[in-house]
Amino acid sequence: MKIICIGRNYAKHISELGNEKPTSPLFFLKPDSAILPKKMPFFIPSFTKEVHYEVEVLVKINKVGKHISPKFAHKYYDEIGLGIDFTARDIQEKAKEKGHPWEQAKAFDGSAVIGEFYKKQDFEDLQGLNFSLSKNSELVQVGNTSHMLWSIDALIAYVSQFFTLKKGDVLFTGTPAGVGKVKEDDVLKGVLEGNQAFEIKIK
Ligand code: ZN
Repeated sequence: MKIICIGRNYAKHISELGNEKPTSPLFFLKPDSAILPKKMPFFIPSFTKEVHYEVEVLVKINKVGKHISPKFAHKYYDEIGLGIDFTARDIQEKAKEKGHPWEQAKAFDGSAVIGEFYKKQDFEDLQGLNFSLSKNSELVQVGNTSHMLWSIDALIAYVSQFFTLKKGDVLFTGTPAGVGKVKEDDVLKGVLEGNQAFEIKIK
């Protein structure tokens, strides 16, 4: 399986990092080796001094699709979840300056937290989902999918022009404002519409 991550899908997050608003969705991939095994803590890698959390709504693809039109995109997923796109921000900033790829900053082992998934029918409106991340019980990121620049269906249509989507692939839909650094002993909890989707200890 593959993990497709969308960057810059929430306006306030774009401005907090001083980035330009893209004219089409910006995306990158993480390999399956990036998935943090369930119940495992996240170990801050030795190659970075600044790992940021980015809480994101996840979509699990349920069948093969290519060149999917936006109006049929909803047929390609029936589960929605929540996760973290851990980012070595110091390395990403250097890569951005030089125009280098982002994999060192985004695709390393443990960088993809994939929490619980829920049936999409359990939610009234997928473009009105509340989600949040707390760090040591303090709320640090609060988002609502209505603030996405591109909706879930628009993202699926867009990325499927480039990649064949396969059953089990996971789409990370971008992070809202409030990203920040983790340190040893932090505890991160993610909540999607009142459901605790994950709890991660930082080591
Ligand atoms: Zn992200």
